[in-house]
Amino acid sequence: GDLWEYDPAPETADPKMKKKYDLFINGEFVPAKSGKYFPTINPADETKIADIALAGANDVDAACKAAQKAFTHVWSKTSGQERGKYLYRIARLLQDHAREFAIAETLDGGKPIKESRDFDVPMAAAHFFYHAGWADKLEFLAPGRKLSPHGVVGQVIPWNFPLLMLAWKIAPALATGNCVVLKPAETTSITALKFGEICQEAGLPKGVVNIVSGAGETGAAVINHPLTTKVAFTGSTEVGKLIMRSLAGTEKKMTMELGGKAANIVFDDAPLDQAVEGIVNGIFFNQGHVCCAGSRLLVQESVADEVLAKLKRRMAVLRVGDPMDKNTDIGAINSREQLERITALVKSGVDEGAELHQSACKLPTKGFFFRPSVFANVSMSHRIAREEIFGPVLSILTFRTPEEAVEKANNTAYGLSAGVWTDKGSRILKMSTLLKAGVVWANTYNKFDPASPFGGYKESGFGREGGKQGLLDYLKIS
Ligand code: NAD
Repeated sequence: GDLWEYDPAPETADPKMKKKYDLFINGEFVPAKSGKYFPTINPADETKIADIALAGANDVDAACKAAQKAFTHVWSKTSGQERGKYLYRIARLLQDHAREFAIAETLDGGKPIKESRDFDVPMAAAHFFYHAGWADKLEFLAPGRKLSPHGVVGQVIPWNFPLLMLAWKIAPALATGNCVVLKPAETTSITALKFGEICQEAGLPKGVVNIVSGAGETGAAVINHPLTTKVAFTGSTEVGKLIMRSLAGTEKKMTMELGGKAANIVFDDAPLDQAVEGIVNGIFFNQGHVCCAGSRLLVQESVADEVLAKLKRRMAVLRVGDPMDKNTDIGAINSREQLERITALVKSGVDEGAELHQSACKLPTKGFFFRPSVFANVSMSHRIAREEIFGPVLSILTFRTPEEAVEKANNTAYGLSAGVWTDKGSRILKMSTLLKAGVVWANTYNKFDPASPFGGYKESGFGREGGKQGLLDYLKIS
């Protein structure tokens, strides 16, 4: 039969889904010292999936000490080749367990199963494969220089790509010889804690990876613990700034992957049908919960009406609903809080005079859902043109000349990514040098490769993840 046939009842969807998930510290699953748990719910129907252990400062302390001990006694003495073997093993185990990880990711986070199945889980495995290959070749990163790991790294990740963000963090850290204490986001802890099972199955030495679940306070404890000498954060610009302030005056190394408000720029010579597919993928992939979402469409004035008409036709056939249905294009918004944030920003767009177009699809009666939405007649001063919505909402702005497109694209506090659609190769090259964005996609959108560094300018953060640059961010160079 079809591997992806499933029973949509959460209890039976995966016999390995547990009712309770404990912290993963020093190679073992342990309850929080306080004995506290918090519920994690399925955002598609608001039912509780499981209880998640709530790590306090004392649990974070135990995790950091376990990581330090593992680093001193085991991991710093493990050769690159051996580290690589563990990473290869983890990558293969993620593939072996792909089905249950995809189901857990979708139940806990709300993203369509076809995305967890075809994107999140395979990309997470790909990150471990890629970094496994580097583990015994680190000398090529900076020839003639001495490279050494930091020791214990503290990592805090968001809820939009729970397993994939974990892979982006843990794979390079282990490849470069660091030990890890990672805190997943509070609404999506399950796949991170399940990753502890993968570490056990891979025979990874105890304490090399530790996972502590909880909310912002737990994250702050990881970031501020004296043993975490390097911290890597992915999340909102607001929390990123808080963390930077809290670490001012310390010698901790930091990398920050923060928010975005990417411009997806369509010129009049672009293949418009292809561009519309790219616009749809750019804003509706993962319900728009994507830091590099193409949330500002800059379209050349002469084709603006045609693009909007094509876009509306395409939106009308997007399937919104049960994330566990293989045919669903747009799943559930990750949390009630996020749904409220999106709703408020959309209201501001209407109040400020932009023209709202929404698909007329039927939404499920339970759970957190939002219609695919597009705003036309947006001006640069509108909140929906400036603030990250992190939902399935596109703001359309127009331009006449390439210079105006560059000016508008760069007129933002962020600088994570951008897209360019044009038939002219020379224009692609020119635009990619003028756009202040870490990634510029040409005639495509949301394409990722573990070998390509990803990261931002300005309020989108600093440091890179992926590629050689991503590895260097986990090493001390002398
Ligand atoms: P968030 O900043 O609210 O939370 C991110 C993580 O930080 C969570 O695990 C949270 O518990 C933790 N946290 C909250 N307060 C903290 C504190 N004071 N100290 C330490 N940790 C704390 O962000 P979110 O809502 O989970 O995620 C959405 C944001 O993440 C968006 O802005 C998005 O653009 C960004 N993001 C960026 C990238 C990137 O690569 N640049 C990737 C994915 C998401």
